[in-house]
Amino acid sequence: MATIFATTPCLARSAPRLSAASLRCCLAPIDRHQRRRLHFGRDAPRQVPDFAFAFDIDGVLLRSSDPIPRAHAALSFLQRESIPFILLTNGGGKHEADRVAELSDKLKLPLDTGLFVQSHTPFADMEHYKDKTVLVVGGDGGKCRDVAEQYGYRNVITPADIYLSNPDIWPFSGALLPHYAQFARPLSSAAPKIDAIFVYADPRDWGLDLALIVDLLLSARGQLGTLSALNGRADLPNAGFQQDAQPALHFSNPDLWWAARYHLARLGQGGFREALEGVWAKVTDGKAALHKHVYGKPYQATYEFAEKRLLRHRETLFGADAARGTALRTVYMVGDNPESDIRGANGFRSPVGTEWRSLLVRTGVYQEGSELSVTPTRIVPDVFEAVKAALGERKWASRLEE
Ligand SMILES: [Mg+2]
Repeated sequence: MATIFATTPCLARSAPRLSAASLRCCLAPIDRHQRRRLHFGRDAPRQVPDFAFAFDIDGVLLRSSDPIPRAHAALSFLQRESIPFILLTNGGGKHEADRVAELSDKLKLPLDTGLFVQSHTPFADMEHYKDKTVLVVGGDGGKCRDVAEQYGYRNVITPADIYLSNPDIWPFSGALLPHYAQFARPLSSAAPKIDAIFVYADPRDWGLDLALIVDLLLSARGQLGTLSALNGRADLPNAGFQQDAQPALHFSNPDLWWAARYHLARLGQGGFREALEGVWAKVTDGKAALHKHVYGKPYQATYEFAEKRLLRHRETLFGADAARGTALRTVYMVGDNPESDIRGANGFRSPVGTEWRSLLVRTGVYQEGSELSVTPTRIVPDVFEAVKAALGERKWASRLEE
């Protein structure tokens, strides 16, 4: 369960100058009524809106780590007007509370951890893995291990742990040994048995991570350093590959591209997965599919998870009776990535009948003139104009002004 935080008076006084660390010091667990005040400010809500927003973060609210101009104005307006929103990002690599603290600091806006859905947030609900041994791949140093442990996973191993126990497993990362030594933990065995693989964030050492994942997918029952006798058996499904209780493979983020500081989009976790798919096709001689689970936008499971969070958030803000009395009719997904944000919103089939509309901004991956493989409801310059357009569509009485 995500912890909810409220700003204390010290935040209100000093918000413009806060660092992420000092912001965290000003955060304290809050109750439902405080959370309501946090979202609404001093004024009581006039009505329960029948619409809400879902905002992507990178390329919509931030570009790399810099705030997008007018993002603060758009979100603070929604808070003042009691219009709910959720943050739905394919980013990850840190715990939700840390990301909220950072984002609050950058946008100069108090935000609620409970409305923050990252690509790996659904992993927090996978109770059946929490006593198993899992390999956590990707992210900076040991941060994703920390996230998994905060989610309740008790036996987490990283590629760095394996590499330090046996550097011969991948001869080409020797120069990175001092780096890995900073956060790796000793293993009881250099050849552990792994029950599941979770790619939490973009791998930093593609060679090592790819080699270990392939080893495990070819292993007997996830025992590193072994080879399954079933691999290549023509009489078995998938030519015998991944038929011997090898670890299940979970990816948190399908994005091929993401918007970084560089002027061209950069390969994301989806690029790593494609590299693995290519190697897997060669390793299996084209006879076996790669069995895996992929989360994140544009997938239905992630939108369902996000919608549940949004509905719960709405009930917390307005009270269950009021929230249910005015059904949520429309969610505006504001994103910069046509393949994840827009395709996901357009294709999502809401279990409760909410319509998701897609607003594509030009401050991230999508640039004016780029060819579109999917058609958004509307293309707008930035998040400010996206909110303005949606409010106009809803005939909302108050104007969003600069
Ligand atoms: Mg984005």
